[in-house]
Amino acid sequence: MAELTERPFPPGDYPLIVVGSGPGGLQVSSALRGYGIEHALLSAEEQPGGMFRRWPFFQRLLSWTKPYAPVARGTRPYERYDWNSLIPETDEHRAVMVGLMDGTSYFPSRPEMQAGLEAFVSRTGLPVRFGCRWTATRRLDDGRFALETSDGEYTAGTLVFAVGVAEPWRPTSPGMELAAHYADTQPVEHYADRRIFIIGKQNSGFELASGMLPWARRIVIASPSPAKLSVNTHSLVGIRARYVQPYEDHVLGGGVAILDAAIEGIERGTGGAAPFRVITRRSTDSVEMVFEADDVIAATGFVAPLLDLPALGVTTFGQSRLPAQTPFWESATIPGIFFAGTIGQGSAGLKKNGIPSNSGAVQGARYNARVLAGHIARSRFGYVPDRPSVAPADVLELLLEELTLGPELWHQRAYLARVLSLDPGDGIRDEGILPLAWFVDAGGPDAIAATLETDGTGAVYPVIYLRRSGAVSEHPIEAHPLLDYRTEAARRDLAAILALILA
Ligand SMILES: Cc1cc2nc3c(=O)[nH]c(=O)nc-3n(C[C@H](O)[C@H](O)[C@H](O)COP(=O)(O)OP(=O)(O)OC[C@H]3O[C@@H](n4cnc5c(N)ncnc54)[C@H](O)[C@@H]3O)c2cc1C
Repeated sequence: MAELTERPFPPGDYPLIVVGSGPGGLQVSSALRGYGIEHALLSAEEQPGGMFRRWPFFQRLLSWTKPYAPVARGTRPYERYDWNSLIPETDEHRAVMVGLMDGTSYFPSRPEMQAGLEAFVSRTGLPVRFGCRWTATRRLDDGRFALETSDGEYTAGTLVFAVGVAEPWRPTSPGMELAAHYADTQPVEHYADRRIFIIGKQNSGFELASGMLPWARRIVIASPSPAKLSVNTHSLVGIRARYVQPYEDHVLGGGVAILDAAIEGIERGTGGAAPFRVITRRSTDSVEMVFEADDVIAATGFVAPLLDLPALGVTTFGQSRLPAQTPFWESATIPGIFFAGTIGQGSAGLKKNGIPSNSGAVQGARYNARVLAGHIARSRFGYVPDRPSVAPADVLELLLEELTLGPELWHQRAYLARVLSLDPGDGIRDEGILPLAWFVDAGGPDAIAATLETDGTGAVYPVIYLRRSGAVSEHPIEAHPLLDYRTEAARRDLAAILALILA
């Protein structure tokens, strides 16, 4: 750790600057080093880990790492079962998390996750300038950028912001300022024998309710729309099964109420009543319901701390104020500004069957960061990638193997794809993992993209996209219950699809 205490990257000019030492910043910096791209990595914090140094509040993640899996630990296919380790550029530092977990749960505790991120930094020797807060941004006359920080001024032609989406946000309903935010949750003993009103039916609201079940006298969880479960949405966007216990408590009449209602106001209780009155209006029949509560908590979400980037011209959208991004996570409005980590959700991809990517969580964002590093290396630093040549006879097996074992396709369904390009003069080249939205929209020479998709029924199946003379066609392959596509049926289906382009 000596390198860390010497504070690398003093203020000055750098080809590229990455801001943030959560999983997003660490992953993109590690991958940029893999490409040999000189850059500075700055973070406001004193240690690596980002949001996981504080949250989840009840100290247990919702993303799993399975110590025992059908494939060998520490291999690339094992990443499919280990959602929480960052991906190093050398094999010896793979699967950091599994060695740090105590075996009581396959969801790591928050301290285990923090230890995993710290271990990634110390084992890979990733230099980070800690205690350096970015405070303002300017555009220089030559088009480059200047970052003002608590340590002085930095300049660079390319910026990557991995500043997370963890700044508390609450709506503006009357009295909402009386509610504590998720970020201000008290130690759990505070809630003993109290009536808790939680606003918001996303993971953070259910996480708090789960943690308070042994303590609270009564819990009401309310927001206008019904809760969506991750098992229904087939993504992390719904409530994870890990947090479903309050829902079961509600259904079995244990004292938790889950209510579809708009919050019309929060008032202070008077005359010996409970400290708060929450006035709600039921979504189904517009009936007013008033609840007395000892604590009101707004689990209403988080925004990205973009500081003055919107004033610089970075367009944002939605409640989380995510920057609008290209498929390669570049600001849609200010070229040269890129985003990594959970903020990459602003590049939504195709959302096939309405199902979003996993870019908001580590297991999705870590692959985005690696693809982003490759894209920055190519597009801004003249890096010439190795594009291995593939013999026509090997295409079928390569794709079946990738569809069965490739972690990028598994975690980022209909979002990242394995791409092969076909040039009549140059033959077939392996272009690696690239964003599917880019493949579909960008045009270009004939090519094949292989991805996995899901349709909301629980099936996960391969889809092959062919680009022929500029037109893209889509070819699904039937789902296999064990998700193994090295079968005769898949081989036959894929061969028929490839014949359309390889002939
Ligand atoms: C309550 C909650 C629970 C979650 N649980 C999980 C989970 O179990 N599993 C999972 O995969 N994901 C989870 N997530 C999503 C999670 O946020 C991401 O997976 C992960 O933390 C994102 O990493 P990141 O690097 O993008 O951002 P963060 O971890 O938020 O890191 C942001 C970094 O940017 C730095 N920074 C911010 N502003 C500045 C500035 N002005 N100057 C310098 N540095 C700055 C911060 O110091 C920090 O180092 C959860 C999110 C929330 C809100």
